[in-house]
Amino acid sequence: MTRPDVQPIARRPLTKLEFARLAVEQNGKCANCGVKLKFEPHQIRDEHVVSLFGGGTNDLSNRQLWCNECVKPKNASDAARHAKIKRLRGETKTGPKKKIPSRGFDKKFKRKMNGEVVKA
Ligand SMILES: [Zn+2]
Repeated sequence: MTRPDVQPIARRPLTKLEFARLAVEQNGKCANCGVKLKFEPHQIRDEHVVSLFGGGTNDLSNRQLWCNECVKPKNASDAARHAKIKRLRGETKTGPKKKIPSRGFDKKFKRKMNGEVVKA
C-alpha cells in the first residue's frame, strides 16, 4: 500500500509477549515462505506487513515473523516503493516520472465503429 500523505512513525520493537503471540499464531513458521523458524538470535525478523514508511502501524496486526531469507527481497521491494513515495512527495529533485508521449494516431485515417479503416 502506498500512502504518500502519511508521515511514517517510529519503529517499535516487539515485546517478548508479542513475539511469542506471533510465533504461536504462525505455528512457528515464516509468514512468507512457511519454513520452520529457527528460534536463535538474528534468525527471525519481525516485519511490518505495511511498512511504517508506507503508513503502516506498530500494531500486532501489522506484524509478522519472517525468516532471514525472506526479509532480503522484501526490503529491496520496500526500498523501491519508498523511493516512489519520496518522489511523489517531491522529496527528490527528479519529480514524478515523465509520461512517455504517444506518437498518436495517423490523422489521415479514421477507424469506423465497425472497425473499418477509411481515408479521412
Ligand atoms: Zn521465509
